[in-house]
Amino acid sequence: MRVGELVAAPGEHRFGYLKVGGTRSGLSADIPIHLFAGVEPGPTLLVQGAIHGTEFIGSIAILDFIQQMDATRLRGNVIAVPVLNRIGFGLGERIGRVDGKDIGRLFPGNPAGSLSERIAHVYFKEVIQQSQVMLDFHQGGLASYERYVLYSADADPQNPTDLEQNRRKLAVAFGLDAAAFFPPGTFQENQSTALEAAGIVQITPELGGGTGWLMHGEESVAIGTRGIWNVLKAMQMVEGEMEADGPLCTIYNAGIVFWRPAVNGLFLRERDIGDVVRTGDCYGRIVDPYTGATLAEMRHTREEAIVIPGGREWPVIGDTSVGILGVVDRVEDRRTMDLRITLPSSGGPA
Ligand SMILES: [Zn+2]
Repeated sequence: MRVGELVAAPGEHRFGYLKVGGTRSGLSADIPIHLFAGVEPGPTLLVQGAIHGTEFIGSIAILDFIQQMDATRLRGNVIAVPVLNRIGFGLGERIGRVDGKDIGRLFPGNPAGSLSERIAHVYFKEVIQQSQVMLDFHQGGLASYERYVLYSADADPQNPTDLEQNRRKLAVAFGLDAAAFFPPGTFQENQSTALEAAGIVQITPELGGGTGWLMHGEESVAIGTRGIWNVLKAMQMVEGEMEADGPLCTIYNAGIVFWRPAVNGLFLRERDIGDVVRTGDCYGRIVDPYTGATLAEMRHTREEAIVIPGGREWPVIGDTSVGILGVVDRVEDRRTMDLRITLPSSGGPA
């Protein structure tokens, strides 16, 4: 198994940096890579954290997983990347002000582009294209808490492709009691097009965040590590029973309302995770942080919907969203659903 200059023989764990360059001032963006090469041929799982530099719950979960992982008991390979966006992480910024671009939206990248485009190019070529499954950890950043698995909507839900069926299974196998998909076109740029074209099954735990480390942080890390092991079990790369919140996983169609504040200010949320919101209800208010005057009320104008497990609870200064409303698409039952997936072998001994 080889990533860049890093090589791991069967049964080995190796650590090194994937060379991707840096800033003109000398900040290195080289990506930390842990390679676990299994002792039997099998698929390759990529687990990555902090593609958004302020989202480090997944990074901690990955570091815990790395401590526990034993490559001599592994089928296939694991590439574990605790921090992908090193510049953003180092500066405490979601994107990183070096070029203001989101690496996750640049794949397959551009070798002649800006720093983020060059990082995306090398990472796509050396890491993503060697993997069949990508577990891409995100969270609510520093100011909101989230607890669901996000994945791309099926193109035709009645006739899901093999990739889409595997994605559905892994979203449930991860172990949370909630998952959600966004209808096509919810976002301006589709982050997943290049990954899907390359045949990569991507699921995105939106897990943790906010200011309460003792309230949710430690729990989120434990759920993240548990989820990595569950995905390995579903991919039949390690033995063992999966562990989950419970037997049921509610799948939300998250396309009803994607709240963005009309104005900047202090966002005061009035509806909690899981609440039903009816037409005319107030989801939250934006108030002037200095006078307390209400600047905007966020009234629900569409059909009855449910608050997806997540959303911003802290002052808003032009951020992407303060919450999402969806409807229940279906409820999956782990007791009757076969969560295992079968993928061809990749990588192999170097
Ligand atoms: Zn993110």
